[in-house]
Amino acid sequence: MSIHLTETARRRTFAIISHPDAGKTTLTEKLLLFGGAIQMAGSVKSRKAARHATSDWMALEKERGISVTSSVMQFPYEDRIVNLLDTPGHADFSEDTYRVLTAVDSALMVIDVAKGVEDRTIKLMEVCRMRDTPVMTFINKLDREGRSPIDLLDEVESVLKIACAPITWPVGMGSRLKGVYHLLDDEVHLFESGKNFTRQDSTILKLDDPTLESRIGAEALRELRDELELVRGASHPFDHAEYLAGKQTPVFFGSAVNNFGVQLLLDFFVAHAPAPKGHATQSRLVQATEDKMSGFVFKIQANMDPNHRDRVAFMRICSGHYEQGMKAFQVRTGKDVKFSNALTFMASDREIVERAYPGDVIGLHNHGTISIGDTFTEGEPIVFTGIPNFAPELFRRARLKDPLKMKQLTKGLAQLSEEGATQFFKPIMSNDLILGAVGTLQFDVVAYRLKDEYGVDCLFENVQVATARWIVCTDEKKLQEFKDKQAMNLAHDAAGLLVYIAPTRVNLQLTQERWPDVQFHATREHA
Ligand code: GDP
Repeated sequence: MSIHLTETARRRTFAIISHPDAGKTTLTEKLLLFGGAIQMAGSVKSRKAARHATSDWMALEKERGISVTSSVMQFPYEDRIVNLLDTPGHADFSEDTYRVLTAVDSALMVIDVAKGVEDRTIKLMEVCRMRDTPVMTFINKLDREGRSPIDLLDEVESVLKIACAPITWPVGMGSRLKGVYHLLDDEVHLFESGKNFTRQDSTILKLDDPTLESRIGAEALRELRDELELVRGASHPFDHAEYLAGKQTPVFFGSAVNNFGVQLLLDFFVAHAPAPKGHATQSRLVQATEDKMSGFVFKIQANMDPNHRDRVAFMRICSGHYEQGMKAFQVRTGKDVKFSNALTFMASDREIVERAYPGDVIGLHNHGTISIGDTFTEGEPIVFTGIPNFAPELFRRARLKDPLKMKQLTKGLAQLSEEGATQFFKPIMSNDLILGAVGTLQFDVVAYRLKDEYGVDCLFENVQVATARWIVCTDEKKLQEFKDKQAMNLAHDAAGLLVYIAPTRVNLQLTQERWPDVQFHATREHA
């Protein structure tokens, strides 16, 4: 097999989905621990950029219980290369999360044993279902008293409409937690506290081991045997094809903070999770096994490293491979772009990547020319589909406290808008700066970041804008007429595209009726 095919086959690219506080961050840390979070020999040059400073921005995240700096972590495990794409947790950032889910081949759902299925989990599972993404489940916080495991599986099946195939089963929980039983290997893994920072898992005994009773107690053993009988009778046996089709989820129990049950999950994950799949474009399906490089940008982040004031576009490689210094064709602009010094992400470090394969995510330095949804190829004019776009629904006018900082404000608003969660508009007839967002929290976040990252104090106040539409008109004369007559309600976005800013929905409707030759698009990607 060629290097390209073997490297592709060993990639496992996934994201963790969960309701805030279920334990996603803790589990991520433990997975990285098992992965050693060490760079891969040969594929990366160890030229480390500065570590991310823990800025005040992080403090805001903590305060609000949100995690915004979603990143990409690559680590080797067994003979696999695992790419873990972090998803932001807060509901307001869901559009960002949705885009991340377009770039993974499978997902891992974390559920709090006491809380069961929560509303964020439901929403995220809906997204997974749209793309038939295979999902594994980790029921966390077993060291605490929670709901009965059978109840929880029932809830997952009825609320999330996916069949459960338990792979491990808890032996007690809370203060009575003795371990987990692996249904496929017929092994009891004993829970021993104090191993939460080590890589080795626990003592393993067969279910019929004569010493098991003395280790976990007669009552716990009897309970386990009774439950297993019930589980084996009532639940689904693991079926690889059903899992890959997104119809069945293998379920694991454990405690992330105690590093218990995590390795069993990871071992099963690398053995059964799918390798990079094909991706749909507007014209054809691109297979990961194809020789020519292709990929799409699913995320842009400004100021990842406050010391570098940089902007990074995250691209998922779909086929072929990336090589340091290669030229790529940016389909939207029709231009050739040289990729130099693309980054790969290892836990908190960033490194210069020399080669990347399907399933990998590389970070491209962006100077405002790359947009979310951009496709890069070796020349073929294909466009990957399925990267969701979100129209802003809320609008505010930015008001500066210090009028001399206008330039910084404009720059900050434009750069932060590249991340895709907000849109920035400059009305033609006024000096206003208007920001559109999907959720109200975005305005607080932008105000905070403007201050922290650009040194600009600004407020966001109400403005009479109900909705925005990107304008396309092939008839030059009509377009000019439209511009002249409607100048009051026209603006340019950060990329300089023409946008109609409607003061009310009724106004938009009337304007659309009056100008039948003008197209009004709800998102800029379609303009
Ligand atoms: P996230 O919001 O999903 O990323 O959740 P975190 O990983 O930040 O965890 C939320 C809280 O739950 C933190 O206080 C963790 O220490 C705690 N936590 C995570 N895993 C466990 C666990 O296995 N047992 C217990 N008791 N607490 C846990």
